[in-house]
Amino acid sequence: MSGPKQLLQRLQVPLLTACDPLYAAGRRWFRLGTSLHQEQHEQLLMSRLSGLTRSFESRGLLREPVWRQLGGADRFSALAEMPVLTREGLRELYPALARLYGTDPAADHHVSGGATGEPVQFYYSRRQRRLAGGCALGMYSILGWRPGMPRFSLWGREPGRSTIRPPRGVRGRMGSWLKHTQVFGGYAPLEDEYWRFLDAVRAQPGCAVLGFTSLLERCALLMLERDRTLPPGFLSTAWACSEMLHRHQKERIEEAFGVQLRRHYGSRECTTLAVDCAAGSLHISPRYIVQAIDLETRAPLPAGQTGSLLVTDLFNDATPFIRYELGDFGAVEWRDCACGLRGFCLAELTGRTAGLFTLESGTQVTALFVVGVLDYFPQIHQCQAVRTGATRFEMRYTGGPLAPETARELETMTSRLLEGAQVRAVPVEELGLSPTGKLIPYREEMPGSPLRPPDNHR
Ligand SMILES: [Zn+2]
Repeated sequence: MSGPKQLLQRLQVPLLTACDPLYAAGRRWFRLGTSLHQEQHEQLLMSRLSGLTRSFESRGLLREPVWRQLGGADRFSALAEMPVLTREGLRELYPALARLYGTDPAADHHVSGGATGEPVQFYYSRRQRRLAGGCALGMYSILGWRPGMPRFSLWGREPGRSTIRPPRGVRGRMGSWLKHTQVFGGYAPLEDEYWRFLDAVRAQPGCAVLGFTSLLERCALLMLERDRTLPPGFLSTAWACSEMLHRHQKERIEEAFGVQLRRHYGSRECTTLAVDCAAGSLHISPRYIVQAIDLETRAPLPAGQTGSLLVTDLFNDATPFIRYELGDFGAVEWRDCACGLRGFCLAELTGRTAGLFTLESGTQVTALFVVGVLDYFPQIHQCQAVRTGATRFEMRYTGGPLAPETARELETMTSRLLEGAQVRAVPVEELGLSPTGKLIPYREEMPGSPLRPPDNHR
């Protein structure tokens, strides 16, 4: 079935590029950034950063004058001398941002996550959004999406709404009409919603599917249980976003959807940061500079070594996201990838530093231990550690009650990992979600403290 709308959808990208020089510039930036050799690539990024820091400095938005340092010969390494912007630092900067852009119609106000109850606020200029949009299309092409390909998404917003705010202006409304994206899910979808989603997907062979990892996983479990999997090759592509993707989840989702599942890594502050190509490399968008630093010493790490990830956004000229600490762990290295693209890739993405919590003894444990435990108990569908006291934990899980001896095994194993804490295995119908609808591996429900996931968890 092909009507005027379908034709326009296919033509949307060429039309946008032809009508909007900023959008076209974003696409050119992507092509250039993914084709250059490392040295030229670094020069390209640093020349833009140099201009950006100069402009931020003139507006008094940088705590330390750094632009002159960036003028040196070895400029990419000069970036390591610049201060790190933490979430706390961004909160301190916010009043200055609000003074500058609060009444500026060309700037959009954004709030990140809020899963901690302490969201960060920042601004983005609309002009740069269009530039970023052109570059993001390149990133979608890495994921296997092509203009005109329908997208069906399962994620934690209201069903039917693909953006938080309604589109504004003729360009915005037109873009929204042509978007060809259908949103399903909501924060805690009921089974019917998954079947509605699948019916829509089945009606569009060759479409793309995307969603929160935990929602795709639940959908995959339903499909496998009811023998309603999609034939291999039915989908053009599928990708998981917003939550970490673990091996057991990837296998389940691929089995049910009949397609290689890619990763889309990003955040509210920095949209599409890195995506998987067909060759399995997690390509970093040339819009960003990503570095890994040592968590303790804060020193930059050599290529391939895992540390806390810092991101520098070259397409946000309103908020200085320069060496902004995301709260995630990973390693960065240069790759001339088998897919034909060149650039920096995330050689590793190991999860959120945010998932760390502290035991009575002072030992820090990553919330990802829950995933390790899951690997031992295939009967469990999804699992969450809930701390109900200083040394008391519940391992809540879905997938039906475990046999008593298996439940005891789960309790003993978890207790050993948590230095002898008292652990109870509790079967539940639904696990608690973060305020933004994500399944988080660890949360606290201690008397006297509000429900709170670990710090910085998005
Ligand atoms: Zn690649």
